[in-house]
Amino acid sequence: MLAPDPNISEKPRAIRRLDEGAINRIAAGEVVERPASAVKELVENAIDAGATRITVAIAGGGKRLIRVTDDGTGIVPDEMPLALSRHATSKIDGSDLLNIRTFGFRGEALASLAAVARLSLTSRVAGGEAVRIDVSAGVMGAPKPAAGRQGTLVELRDLFFATPARLKFLRTEQAETRAVVDVVKRLAMAEPYVRFELIDESEAPRTLFAVEAETGDPLDALSGRLGQVLGREFIDNALALDSEREGLHLTGFAALPTYSRGSAVQQFIYVNGRNVRDKALIGALRAGYRDVLSRDRHPAAVLFIDCDPVLVDVNVHPAKTEVRFRDPAAARSLIVSGLRDVLAGAGHRASSTVADATIEAFQPEPRVYQMDRPSRGRVFFEEKPRENSNFPGFAETAAARIEPEPCPEDIDLPLGAARAQVHENFIVAQTRDGMILVDAHAAHERIVYETLKAQREENGVAAQALLVPEIVELGEDAEPLLAIADHLSSLGLTVEPFGPGAVAVREVPAILGTVDAAALLRDIADELADAGSSAVLAGRIDAILSRIACHGSVRTGRRMNAAEMNALLRQMEATPRAGQCNHGRPTYVELKMHDIEKLFGRK
Ligand code: ADP
Ligand code: MG
Repeated sequence: MLAPDPNISEKPRAIRRLDEGAINRIAAGEVVERPASAVKELVENAIDAGATRITVAIAGGGKRLIRVTDDGTGIVPDEMPLALSRHATSKIDGSDLLNIRTFGFRGEALASLAAVARLSLTSRVAGGEAVRIDVSAGVMGAPKPAAGRQGTLVELRDLFFATPARLKFLRTEQAETRAVVDVVKRLAMAEPYVRFELIDESEAPRTLFAVEAETGDPLDALSGRLGQVLGREFIDNALALDSEREGLHLTGFAALPTYSRGSAVQQFIYVNGRNVRDKALIGALRAGYRDVLSRDRHPAAVLFIDCDPVLVDVNVHPAKTEVRFRDPAAARSLIVSGLRDVLAGAGHRASSTVADATIEAFQPEPRVYQMDRPSRGRVFFEEKPRENSNFPGFAETAAARIEPEPCPEDIDLPLGAARAQVHENFIVAQTRDGMILVDAHAAHERIVYETLKAQREENGVAAQALLVPEIVELGEDAEPLLAIADHLSSLGLTVEPFGPGAVAVREVPAILGTVDAAALLRDIADELADAGSSAVLAGRIDAILSRIACHGSVRTGRRMNAAEMNALLRQMEATPRAGQCNHGRPTYVELKMHDIEKLFGRK
């Protein structure tokens, strides 16, 4: 037989009021989950106090020690005991919970921390003396004179010693340390004018993270700070955002799709300076990139939404990592359209990392230069030149076409003048200060896709009737495809049922020209299967369009003449988002003169 549950008694138990210490420990459970959350609360207090230099020291992953020192306003000695008690704050008067302009407002952090650790608070205001108060196991000592400059120092020792259950749930020291680093970085990204330093004092002091205060206008300061925190590469490949909608203001930086990541590690969203991990906003961020990234790639971006505090409720969760907008749809479309606009504007900019990767791939092995080594180049020149070759010694097997007369005026355009096509796909173009290598197939696919989208948005995609309808056997895939026949017809594709498991194709999008209808339909059926039946159709239309676009593309193996190549380059320049193919891969790479010189060891 099961033992009786000790929490269930037969008679009602007496109701009693919890003591202050227990209340604080329970509250601490919500606010202070782990050392990183304590660091966050203390650093936010320092920022609220107007600090310009904040130093964080930890030991044992923050379990043994957390010390946050700032040069902010300080706390007047008389108010220090109040600062340490629950529901005491200088930041709001309680009359207007919708108008919050500081990180803090709940007046809970210091009291909670004092309940779960040994806390010591030292503070000094301008023109005053430093005073220190120690609290241990919730018991506050008397204020005593101390040494210290203007500002505040909060030291926590033995976090969670009073709540051993919580202590057990903490991860390894390394994991807790990583979480602290992450929190400090997230705070530092939003406060470029503040200097941050994070030191690990577990053994000999070791700097884990440090950034100097930035200067200059807000955009420069932010870009400098993000470069420091996320790396130069991020900022070199990022576009500045600045748009507004219904009282919400979006700023920040969004990386080019070609700088996408394998996971969501570089996605940061701030609402009124507060870092939030909000699913809806992250979803909007992804949606902003949907057209230019394949599903398995993750955009990198740092977004700041600022608005009148009354338009957003931050008091949803004690740790304040979620927010509630008064108009969530406006916040979402601000992000989606803000991102789409800048990404479209940067259509023909590919990431500099692409050029770097190219250069790396090109790095010659030193031995290639040894003359006695039979290289492919040797074989190449030993072959018999063709009579009609443009170039003496140029064998047909090289599969290159040289265009003898470049259009001189094209050289100053972003993608330059076409000079040659190699392997019946790649176009080599010359620019004023370098060269461009274009994946013609990928570029054409992108152009077709963008054209299809533009047509769809105007009057629907232009269709071209087939002289003889094509019958395609699709088996069980026929049904889901026919179920969206109306949508397909707005995309220029008219299909009808044709007996069991078969579909008759009557019209195809005109831009595709001659097309393998069976392959096209099978692709769309795959897309529908991938998306799963529960997905909303609107989300699939672009994906379907993208599949359709693939079928209109210059297939590898097609030779282009100079006029065609230059026309493609000019179309790319005119097409939004032409820097990436529909799958987020680059459509071209650019090598500047100095990159080329680097390849030959000249620089
Ligand atoms: P909250 O930040 O929600 O007000 P806290 O418990 O974190 O609550 O802090 C209580 C009060 O102590 C703050 O309102 C502020 O007046 C004061 N305070 C805390 N930390 C600092 C600091 N680093 N510098 C100046 N004042 C501080
Ligand atoms: Mg606070």
